[in-house]
Amino acid sequence: MLYSEKVMDHFRHPRNVGEIENADGVGEVGNPVCGDIMKIYLKIENGIIEDVKFKTFGCGSAIASSSMATELIKGKSVEDALELTNKAVVEALDGLPARKIHCSVLAEDAIKLALLDYYKKNGLEVPEKIKNYKTHEEEEAEAAEAEE
Ligand SMILES: [Zn+2]
Repeated sequence: MLYSEKVMDHFRHPRNVGEIENADGVGEVGNPVCGDIMKIYLKIENGIIEDVKFKTFGCGSAIASSSMATELIKGKSVEDALELTNKAVVEALDGLPARKIHCSVLAEDAIKLALLDYYKKNGLEVPEKIKNYKTHEEEEAEAAEAEE
């Protein structure tokens, strides 16, 4: 089997699909490799992620990753959500094929950008961790530039 049962389950029955009106934080990222586009909406109250929804236009792995990532941060504190890595998403999905790992990276990026949006919108001090947050895509572009 190329994909784990969990991946197939979250792909067929994605959790937390949709939009949140007046979201406290929104993050959107794209991935040129698969053409995936992912948007994450956060509803945050007293530092807790009360609700999270996503809209993903993309491959099955991107949809399964978004679904799992939203499940992992729902009900958690903002600080805990900041610790989410794509590795944790992949592990929770019982793995992804190597060439689909970048789809899980998108989920991490979208959530970090949504959190960054939340801190900025509320005039809160942005944690050091995401102050200069760059999506993996931006990091790669910079690394490629530095090599030239
Ligand atoms: Zn993809």
